[in-house]
Amino acid sequence: MILNPLSNQVGGHDGVLSMGDDNEIIVKPALPQELKFYEESVLHAELAAWMPTYYGTLTLTRNQPGQAGGDQTSTSAGPTIKALNGYALSDMMAASTLDQQDGANAAAAAIAETDVVAAEAEDNGAIDDECICLENVSLGFKKPCVLDLKMGTQLFDDDASEEKKARLGAVAANTTSLPLGFRMTGFEVYDSEKDSFTKYSKHYGKGLTEDTVLDGFRAYFAAKLGPERMRLIIERFINDLTDFLATIETQELRMRSSSLLMIYEGDAEAFDAGVAIEQEKIAAVVARAQAHMEKSAREDQEGDDEDEENDEDDEDDEDYDEDDEEDGEVGQKVTDMRLIDFAHSTWTPGQGPDEGVVKGVKSALALFEKLLQEDYPID
Ligand code: ADP
Ligand code: MN
Repeated sequence: MILNPLSNQVGGHDGVLSMGDDNEIIVKPALPQELKFYEESVLHAELAAWMPTYYGTLTLTRNQPGQAGGDQTSTSAGPTIKALNGYALSDMMAASTLDQQDGANAAAAAIAETDVVAAEAEDNGAIDDECICLENVSLGFKKPCVLDLKMGTQLFDDDASEEKKARLGAVAANTTSLPLGFRMTGFEVYDSEKDSFTKYSKHYGKGLTEDTVLDGFRAYFAAKLGPERMRLIIERFINDLTDFLATIETQELRMRSSSLLMIYEGDAEAFDAGVAIEQEKIAAVVARAQAHMEKSAREDQEGDDEDEENDEDDEDDEDYDEDDEEDGEVGQKVTDMRLIDFAHSTWTPGQGPDEGVVKGVKSALALFEKLLQEDYPID
């Protein structure tokens, strides 16, 4: 089992890893607070539906203390997977050594750069790094154009030091976070002519103001897919944001520095394939509903033998589901939007919704609507 640096990480601390044959699992060093948030998310199904699927935790053990801050290229064996909790794939249990140097270095770099990891020195000098295993939301995209949109007006939690509160308070005030309730963190856009991604760093996002942030979104929606596809993408994000808003207005939690991860397909052919798959699915559902209605109408006329007919119905349903699912494989996606990064977020029953995040979603919605009217007109 190989750990790779996540190829399309756009924000946050360096060193997010992925693993699996299709890099389908994100492995991220995590604070106890984030683990707790995911563990408790089962009690909040409505919000959890917007989060990546949580697979469990993974402990990476580094054998050379001090290594992370120093010369990473001399990391010899790399970290080993010491313990794995709650993860479903049995082949993971056999994994012992991470055989890819890049993965080892990235993990070491992550540990060096963050205060995120609860590291614990043992007798032999080895250090355990607690990681969280999540669904990789960018799976299902050929050229994922990824945006990390940091939500909320307040970026620190109540436990932060006074120094950190002052620092992050100033960051919010000097960026779009305070006035708009969100900030573009990092993003990358596929350029089909150059066959490469154009990357925008967090410095770019921090430099945007209320007056220029629409240009930031124009830069994100700049994949050369043509106005029709782009309009579809923006409309889908507007639908997602509208649904998400309805959810968070009923949820009691405080999101501090959590992000909406938005992704759209940057390859035109793959994009169209994704749309075609969706249309086939919709057509199948419609056909099935129609068949069902016709059958009921026949049964109403015939009257008798209802039980037998119903049994047959159930069998038909099962057959249909099996054909459609194909071993849980992720098909081509068109867009996706999920809520990530809960290192400083907490469930707060009884305290009402997070007004800073509500504000952010509303302003993002207003800007997307504006973009749709001005840059991608309906007719
Ligand atoms: P940090 O605490 O360092 O900010 P994040 O959870 O925000 O960590 O992750 C950093 C980056 O890693 C994100 O901006 C995104 O690019 C990528 N990432 C994180 N989680 C996922 C995920 N589940 N699927 C795909 N990409 C992810
Ligand atoms: Mn983040």
